[in-house]
Amino acid sequence: MKDLIKKIKAFENESQTLEIPIAQRGILIEKVKQFTDDFIEALPEAESFNTKTPNFDKLKIRDNSTKTLDDILSIFKEEVNELGLRAASGGHVGYIPGGGIYAAALGDFLAAVSNEYAGVSYASPGAVAIENEVITWLKKVFSFPETAVGNLASGGSIANLIALTAARDKHKIKNEHITKSVVYLSEQAHHCLKKALRIIGLEDVIIRHLELDEDYKIDTGTLNKQIEVDFSLGLHPFLIIASAGTTDVGAIDPLEKIATIAKHHNLWYHIDAAYGGFFVLTSKKESFKGIEKADSLVVDPHKGMFLPYGLGAVLIKDGEAVLHSHRSTGNYLQDAVTADLANEPANVSPELTKHFRGLRMWLPLQLHGIKPFVAALEEKLLLTTYFRKKLIAMGCKVGPKPDLSVSYFWYPTEKHQNDFNKKLMQNIHQDGSVFLSSTILKGEFVIRIAILSFRTKRVTIDRALEMIERSLKQTLVDFE
Ligand SMILES: *Cc1c(COP(=O)(O)O)cnc(C)c1O
Repeated sequence: MKDLIKKIKAFENESQTLEIPIAQRGILIEKVKQFTDDFIEALPEAESFNTKTPNFDKLKIRDNSTKTLDDILSIFKEEVNELGLRAASGGHVGYIPGGGIYAAALGDFLAAVSNEYAGVSYASPGAVAIENEVITWLKKVFSFPETAVGNLASGGSIANLIALTAARDKHKIKNEHITKSVVYLSEQAHHCLKKALRIIGLEDVIIRHLELDEDYKIDTGTLNKQIEVDFSLGLHPFLIIASAGTTDVGAIDPLEKIATIAKHHNLWYHIDAAYGGFFVLTSKKESFKGIEKADSLVVDPHKGMFLPYGLGAVLIKDGEAVLHSHRSTGNYLQDAVTADLANEPANVSPELTKHFRGLRMWLPLQLHGIKPFVAALEEKLLLTTYFRKKLIAMGCKVGPKPDLSVSYFWYPTEKHQNDFNKKLMQNIHQDGSVFLSSTILKGEFVIRIAILSFRTKRVTIDRALEMIERSLKQTLVDFE
């Protein structure tokens, strides 16, 4: 026994270093505070993109050697923050920008330190209540019924996966039915939707790519006809996927009309509003009419609510359909069973143990209220208009007036227009002052503008314009 206690003591001394003493904690947190303050203060001037690669050796984990926090922070700055895309910067106007509001980081810090268990209410009724309060708030924002269920997942991809799984189970798409079942979506739908179909065993369903109108929105006339044809062929249409804000051009499909068609044919109606959803809070509200009629809806607070990466939400009206595949239990969880099944995050998600994500959204909403979020979204809409006007003045061509804050442009040339714009994109990336990305629309290479970061201000757009002008001059020289 004595020997045993001695051994325990030895390990105890060693393992105790994991509990950093209070005085030292103060020093460490002060260093992190200083570091993050410097990071944020430098953002307005920092380049938004560069193509350097990390020094992998510096990132190596060596089991028996330690570093000071100062060293670690300096590696983090040089090998992480300073490489690639500076996603926290307002100069990120490519892809779909994220956010990184500070209040959410504080929520994450509190969630991590207290390590509340947000998977089942038995473990942390308060944490789960916060998860569910955020979901209730989202239901209100999108006029979903109180009886709908929801989940705070890691992002739009997993949120979409949960929704499509519910659609699959509601319509019993399995075994020999799979190859006769039909899904309707447009080429503009986010690629994570087809990926989700593959993951959930629906790789072999029939996918109908819907025709688009000139604004890249689903043409509802052909959708209705296609469904009728498919029924007459003895197939089993079961799911329509629409977008409220596509990644390429920010288009909102005709949500209300599609809702009518889905209802008429008794199909599951899913809307992916990962990027665009929160613009429903703005003067663009009308464009979202019909969103409340979806059977399932996905929004990404790590885009439109400016949170740091790691929060995509799903709302689903048919709770039973979700529980069918996501509710599961084990003997070791016997103490945790509660009656309110759909209010248990673990029953509505592939995850059991999860990060307490609700806090990173709940805390900022409590701290700031909704107003500054709405103002930031309105600001992004106006900045998009401003950007487009200035681009036209510069001699660029712009795409049609966008629904939201994603648009595109190109520089018109007599010949080799695609090559010219590709080179222009390269020169813009080489410059790196502001980060833009490109896409292909109807075979044409175009440069995208996606304004969604809460840190993108008018000065950022002016800086982007100066950069585009510089890059354009360079490209004209390159092409001489
Ligand atoms: C970003 C996005 C997704 C994917 O979401 P992640 O959070 O990146 O997983 C899906 N659909 C749309 C429209 C998006 O903008």
